[in-house]
Amino acid sequence: MSNETPPELEGRRLRRRDTIALTLISIAVLLILGLTAAMNIWVSLSAIAAISAMSLIYFLVVSTTASARTPHQADSEPATAEPADRSPAHDILESLPFPVMLVGPGGRIERANPSAHEFLGLGAESGLLSASLRQPKVLEAVSSVLRGEPGRLVEYSTFAPIESHVRVHVIPLKIVDGGAFPWRALLVLADETASKRAERMRGDFLANASHELRTPLASLAGFIETLKGHAREDIEARDRFLTIMQDQTERMRRLINDLLSLSRIEMDEHVPPSGEADLAAMAQDTIDSLTPQAHAKAIAVDFEGDASANVIGERDQLFEIAQNLIENAIKYSASGTRIICDIHADIGREDIERLTNTLGPRAGRLTIANPALPPGRRYAMLRVRDAGKGIERRHLPRLSERFYRIDGQKSGPKEGTGLGLAIVKHIVSRHRGGFYVESLPGEGSIFSVCIPAVPAKPPAVPG
Ligand code: ADP
Repeated sequence: MSNETPPELEGRRLRRRDTIALTLISIAVLLILGLTAAMNIWVSLSAIAAISAMSLIYFLVVSTTASARTPHQADSEPATAEPADRSPAHDILESLPFPVMLVGPGGRIERANPSAHEFLGLGAESGLLSASLRQPKVLEAVSSVLRGEPGRLVEYSTFAPIESHVRVHVIPLKIVDGGAFPWRALLVLADETASKRAERMRGDFLANASHELRTPLASLAGFIETLKGHAREDIEARDRFLTIMQDQTERMRRLINDLLSLSRIEMDEHVPPSGEADLAAMAQDTIDSLTPQAHAKAIAVDFEGDASANVIGERDQLFEIAQNLIENAIKYSASGTRIICDIHADIGREDIERLTNTLGPRAGRLTIANPALPPGRRYAMLRVRDAGKGIERRHLPRLSERFYRIDGQKSGPKEGTGLGLAIVKHIVSRHRGGFYVESLPGEGSIFSVCIPAVPAKPPAVPG
């Protein structure tokens, strides 16, 4: 609650004070005149008339000065002073979710909505536009609009301390009783940073994808050239080159499959699956299908935990999750080690926290995707634990980025595409599940995924 007197009441009180003062003075002068004029009635009456006229003139001058002060005062008052009229237009301006400002003569910010305050970091007194927005192109557009020239659309970018890309519509407004300076500039700002970044990411993705495909393609072209030339009659070299060509073709096929898979998943990521599948059966099938790969490295892949785990999900995509995680565990583990896949069929929030935090305080841990985890919700979890080299903490945040591979990590003859974990992340997000990694260099890694469980059916009512 404010105790301040409204400005109109304050003005009226001052005028009343001035009038009382003048009346007292006139009475005093009258007394003096009365005494000096030896009670001459005409002299006294003329003195009263003169002094009353003076006080009337004074009153009129004071009142006109007070009302004339208002527009000038507006210039010297803080630019963000609350307007006396809170019209619907004012309320609309205040509630707009993007920054809007009104700039007046001299480049002073006359009004700024809360979004503008937040966006430009304006204080309680907004002051001059040039102090908050040091963008020559914008300031120049504002100056020309204030001179009565047409509006403009201006764009600017900043790269430090943070990257931002902004479009500013500078619109001329003519104030009806604006006197010598009727023009104002209405600034509407649009933050384009997110869309510019998404555009760049799309560009980077295309560049990376074509680079990844170009490398095996160039190698293939080179070998074909060699086979047509001097290696034509060299049977031994020919066999060696054909094996390499086969590997490169395989790699291209994997890349294209992963890219297609990623784009398919992204396309319907916003539509959660409605079917049901058994996560435990899926893990078992995957282990079976990867047995030859594991045997080739003398790696044992053991299944532990619940034998069935019904989840809300799409079978093929859940298979893809299990395949990527178990295949990675095989690829990045040394020969003779052991991999454990365990299933937890019916778990809640606390269990998830416990099961994704098992390697101790020295381990790095990252939540790659996190579901809303409402208290009553139940999940099923697949954990893939290997005894491989482990992943240094600094690599964890970038693991699920497309094409990110840790330098110097050997994955055997089947070189990775760097898309597997990105695919897992998108499938998990579509399923409204969680994706976590824990790793301790020298000891191994655990990749865990949780998917919403099928709610238990209420027991049938007898009879
Ligand atoms: P890739 O096809 O290269 O395996 P992923 O997206 O599946 O691509 O994995 C990204 C990178 O994360 C891998 O290149 C590897 O460096 C690292 N990585 C993934 N899984 C493991 C693991 N189980 N142990 C160690 N490093 C791993």
